[in-house]
Amino acid sequence: MKGKPIGKELTRQSERLLIRAATEAIKTDFPNPERLGCPESTSLIAIARRNLSGPDTEDTIDHIATCAPCLDEYNRHRRRHLLLRRGRFALICFAGVVAIGSAWHFGRMPQKQPVARQAPDPVLTATLDFSNRTVERSDEVQRRPEPKTPHLKRAVLKLTVRLPIGTEDGAYSVEFWTGNDQPVAKATGNAVWDGSAETLISTIDLRKLAPGEYTLAIRNARWLWSTYKVLLD
Ligand SMILES: [Zn+2]
Repeated sequence: MKGKPIGKELTRQSERLLIRAATEAIKTDFPNPERLGCPESTSLIAIARRNLSGPDTEDTIDHIATCAPCLDEYNRHRRRHLLLRRGRFALICFAGVVAIGSAWHFGRMPQKQPVARQAPDPVLTATLDFSNRTVERSDEVQRRPEPKTPHLKRAVLKLTVRLPIGTEDGAYSVEFWTGNDQPVAKATGNAVWDGSAETLISTIDLRKLAPGEYTLAIRNARWLWSTYKVLLD
C-alpha cells in the first residue's frame, strides 16, 4: 500500500480501491483483535471526514489498510459522515425548494395590499362656503372674528369654494399654507357665477399634509391673497 503517494487528495476511486483491496485480505491477514498500534478514533474520524491535513495522515491510512478493526471503524465513520452530508445537502435542497416554492406561491397570490396602494386614490369632493364673508385681504388690518373653521379630509379633493360676494370670474390660485405664508399645496381653478355665488372649482392634493390647521389662500391676478383658516383631519 506504500507504493502510491496518497497525499492530501484521497479520491473516491482510490478510497474504493483501498477498501476493496483491504477488505479482501484484511480480516484474515490482519485481524489485530488486541488493536495493537491503533490510532486514536479522532484520527480515523478526521480521515473519514476528509480532514487530511494531520501530520500522521498517511501513516494512519496505511494502518487502516492493515488493521481489520480500524477498517471497520473507519467504514462506520465514513458512512456516517456521508450520510450526514447527504442529509444536510438534502435538507439544504429541501429548504431551497420550499423557499422557491413559497416565493412562487406568494408571487401568485393575489396581493391585496400593494394593489390597494397602487390604486389611485379616489377624488373626494368638498365644498367651502365663504359667500357670506366679506372680501378679506391679507393686508387688511381690521379683521372680523373668524367664523367656525371648516374641516377637510387629507385626500385628493375636488374643492368647490363659494367665494365672497364681489369676487370676480376668472383664473385663481389656490394654496394651503402652514403658518401664515408657507405654501404646502398648490392648485389653480376657475371661478364662475353659478347664479347664487361666485364659485371656484379646483382639484388639489392634500394627501401628504399632516393633520392640523392650515391657511387656505385664494387670489386671482388682480387681488391680493384672501385667506381662510381650515382644519385638515
Ligand atoms: Zn488498528
